[in-house]
Amino acid sequence: MSDLHQKLMDEAYEWWQNDGKNASRGDFITHCKSKSQKHLDAVVAGNLNYQVCNGGFGQWVDNGYAVDAWDHVEDLLNRMGTKNSKAILRMLESFKEYISFDSSERGCFGCYWISNGPQECGWCDMGVNEGDYDEETDKYEIVDCEYCNGSGYEEEEVNEGGDIAESRSRDFWEISEAWMVEVEDFLNDRPLVKADDPKVEKETVSRSSSSVKYPKIKVELVGQDGNAFSIMGRVSKAMRRAGVEKDVIDQYTKESMSGDYDHLLQVAMSYVDVA
Ligand SMILES: [Zn+2]
Repeated sequence: MSDLHQKLMDEAYEWWQNDGKNASRGDFITHCKSKSQKHLDAVVAGNLNYQVCNGGFGQWVDNGYAVDAWDHVEDLLNRMGTKNSKAILRMLESFKEYISFDSSERGCFGCYWISNGPQECGWCDMGVNEGDYDEETDKYEIVDCEYCNGSGYEEEEVNEGGDIAESRSRDFWEISEAWMVEVEDFLNDRPLVKADDPKVEKETVSRSSSSVKYPKIKVELVGQDGNAFSIMGRVSKAMRRAGVEKDVIDQYTKESMSGDYDHLLQVAMSYVDVA
């Protein structure tokens, strides 16, 4: 972790180790907030990054960090506004509804999740199965299901939110390092590139505009429907209107469809002036 981020965390934790020794995590968060917004930002970002990198979003939740700091984390990510911050916001959103925010219990494994409750056993009919055939009664014996010991329910509860959270952890790991750099910049009041900053779009366009086949044909893609067919449709229509030969437009369509979405955008930019 970089300089200022670490310094702010050390200052905040110093209180918890001394004067605030017996404080709960919730009280610690309140203390950080009263110290300064930057201390709070540093602590919630550092905790999130450490916990998720260590054991996934599941660990961040199970260790109690998520419930106490959720609003502050969302607030921080919104103020940062970078592409990575927005991506993390979407990851959190995907399992937020499964978090038990008003749980009176604290510090117990699993109590921060809203459980789906026990699931019905898939091996029996409410705890019983048909056993051996009894010739005398001309009926099958009724026996307790051996999978669920006759209870009719699976022993383990299903934690759907936990499963979703776990699958998002890999996405977090991919951007964790870059995000930590952004957090350090943010704490130092250095400007960040916001996700909806038009500069980002312009940069992408100018990088490839040197070899544009029809630089005079302008196609508006920013702020429009980003669906692949819609993009191809708008680019071919613009070329048709500008009198470009059908062969060229066919070639453009063929090239567009020969790769992934990024490739499709690159092809569009190599034919027309995309804005
Ligand atoms: Zn059963």
